Amino acid sequence: MNEILDEIIYENRKYLCEGQVASYIPELKNGNKDALGIYITTLEGKEYFGGDYYTKFTIQSISKIITLALAIMDNGIEYVFSKVGMEPTTEAFNSIVDLEMKNLNKPLNPMINAGAIAISSMIKGDTSEEAFSRVLDFVRKLSGNEELDLNYNVYVSEKKTGNRNRSLAYFMKSTGVIENDVEAVLDVYFKQCSIEVTCKDLSKIAAVFANNGVIPWTGERIIEKEVAQIVKTIMVTCGMYDGSGEFAVKIGLPAKSGVGGGILGVSPNKMGIGIVGPSLDKRGNSIGGVEVLKDLSQKLDLSIF
Ligand code: GLU
Repeated sequence: MNEILDEIIYENRKYLCEGQVASYIPELKNGNKDALGIYITTLEGKEYFGGDYYTKFTIQSISKIITLALAIMDNGIEYVFSKVGMEPTTEAFNSIVDLEMKNLNKPLNPMINAGAIAISSMIKGDTSEEAFSRVLDFVRKLSGNEELDLNYNVYVSEKKTGNRNRSLAYFMKSTGVIENDVEAVLDVYFKQCSIEVTCKDLSKIAAVFANNGVIPWTGERIIEKEVAQIVKTIMVTCGMYDGSGEFAVKIGLPAKSGVGGGILGVSPNKMGIGIVGPSLDKRGNSIGGVEVLKDLSQKLDLSIF
């Protein structure tokens, strides 16, 4: 299997030069454009890897699936979806236009920035530090990696320059979607995006979702089954930005990408997949990573459809 993975990585390195490393968060410019790697954790406990799987990067938007699960467990399904919708969008992940124009009075879904910021506001904790520390503990448990922490430079860079996110958040405060202090909510959001991981960590987190919320290596249920199912469904419809439809057709797996270059893919009841490839396409998805997942899905017949 490691040979198959190395071969898939080798075949798809050619796409990396067609993409760009994210630069709108200045610190992300330091991402390695040439890196492409994959890590797989099966539910039977086997692990496989290929390419530059040891590359570190920040989790960015992939954190949105984790906070969604936590917010639902903190507040219940009904409350969370009274504040954030479940519908995909054709706009970019940081778009403002849907917020006002769609007339829903709430962000379209929890995977775009507006929806994710609203979700961060629902994480329980007396202070924003406490809320973030619950998120970090949860990510550590899901990945089985107690060492995970935030990349401070990325966090500061994002906090300094995140004015688009700030405007989304203040708009939502004005409409009542966000009830607590906006800057405190944004702090949780910027920190959750800045957690540094490898694709091994992503594959472990994905394996928990593939196992419907039970940690495969301990047998402990950490996410309720219904919650894991909701998160996976929203990954299919909204996880790959405004490229989610094409991704579903070509790859057919619940997945979530982030502008740090990661993709987390879930093969239900089989395996968790983590990808790293900071060279991004126009939508913000790892350009090589999507191709790697396409080849893997075809070779192993992984499409859920
Ligand atoms: N921290 C990034 C932002 O808020 C996350 C975006 C992403 O990964 O899609 O802009």
